[in-house]
Amino acid sequence: MAQERIGFIGLGIMGQPMCLNLLKAGFSLTVYNRTPARMQPVLQAGAVAAASAKQAAERSSIVITMVTDTPDVEQVLFGHDGVMQGLKANSVVIDMSTISPSATQRMAAQIKEKGSQMLDAPVSGGDVGAKAGTLAIMVGGEAQTLERCRPVLEAMGKTITHVGGHGMGQTVKLCNQILVSVTNLAVCEAVRFAQRSGVDPRVMIEAVKNGAAGSWQLSNLGPRMAAGDFAPGFMIDLQQKDLRLALQSAFEMQLPSPGLSLVHQLFSACQARGEGREGTQALIKSLLALTQKPAKEN
Ligand code: NAP
Repeated sequence: MAQERIGFIGLGIMGQPMCLNLLKAGFSLTVYNRTPARMQPVLQAGAVAAASAKQAAERSSIVITMVTDTPDVEQVLFGHDGVMQGLKANSVVIDMSTISPSATQRMAAQIKEKGSQMLDAPVSGGDVGAKAGTLAIMVGGEAQTLERCRPVLEAMGKTITHVGGHGMGQTVKLCNQILVSVTNLAVCEAVRFAQRSGVDPRVMIEAVKNGAAGSWQLSNLGPRMAAGDFAPGFMIDLQQKDLRLALQSAFEMQLPSPGLSLVHQLFSACQARGEGREGTQALIKSLLALTQKPAKEN
C-alpha cells in the first residue's frame, strides 16, 4: 500500500476526521496534539502517538499541520520541539490550516533551505466534508510536490486544485471567504427587506433560490435567519479570523475591499454583543440592531 509515512499535528474538529480517513486509506500515521486526550479516537483507530511535533516529524516523510492561525503554525513548525527539529531531508510539510498567504511564502522558503518542500493546502467543506472525505483542497506550491502528495490529499478531499505557487492556496481560500461572507450580507439584507415589506422571507427564498440570485448562503443560512436559529454551523469567531487574514492581505497589496471591510465590522458588532460563538447567519442581528430604538434614552 502507501509508501509515505504520515505525521499529523492538530487533532481538532477538522484534524480528527481527516486522520480517520488517512487510516481508512491505509496510510501509516503518527499523530501529535497539544492536548493529548484529543488523540484518543484516532489512536483507537490505529494511529501511533508522538510526544511532540518534532517526534512526529522524525517518524514521517510527509507532515500535515491542521492548527488554528498563523502564529500556531509557526510555533508547531519552528518552535521548541517543533517539526523542523525532526524533519528529514526530502520530506514535505503540508499546512492545511487557514493562515496568512505571505507568512506561508516565508515558511516555504525556510523549509526549502533545509532541503524539504512545503505545500499550503487549506480546505473548504467544514466538519461535514472532513468526515465524508469530500473536502475541497486548494493547493499552493510546486507541481511535482503536489503529485507526490496527491494520494494523501485524495484520502481527505474530493476536489484537489493546484492554484499556483507557495501561498496561493491560502489566497484562494481567502477569496472563498470573501465570497461567502459578502454573499451572507446580501442574504441578510434581502431577508430584512422581505420582513419589513410584509413578505414571509421563507416564501421569498423559495421563489428566488433557483434563479440568478441562488447561492449556498441563501438556501442554507436564509431559512435559519428567518427562523431565528443562530446555532453554529460555522462560528462568527472563526469567520472573523479568516476575514482578518483577507483584510491584512488586501492591506499588504493596497487593494480596497469595501464589502469585506463592512462585513468584518458588522461581525465585530456581533462579537461585541457576545455572539461570537453563534453561526455566521447571526450577522442579521447586526442589521436588526441598526433599526432598533434604544430601550431608554441616556
Ligand atoms: P479546532 O477544533 O479549534 O482545532 C485546532 C487544533 O489546533 C487543535 O488540535 C489545537 O490543539 C491545535 N492548536 C492550536 N494552536 C496550537 C498551538 N499553538 N500549538 C499546538 N497546537 C495548536 O479548529 P478546527 O475547526 O479543526 O480548524 C483548524 C483549521 O482549519 C483552522 O485554521 C480553521 O480556520 C480551518 N478550517 C476549519 C473549518 C471548520 O469548519 N471548522 C473549515 C475549513 C477550515 P488543542 O487541542 O491542544 O487545543
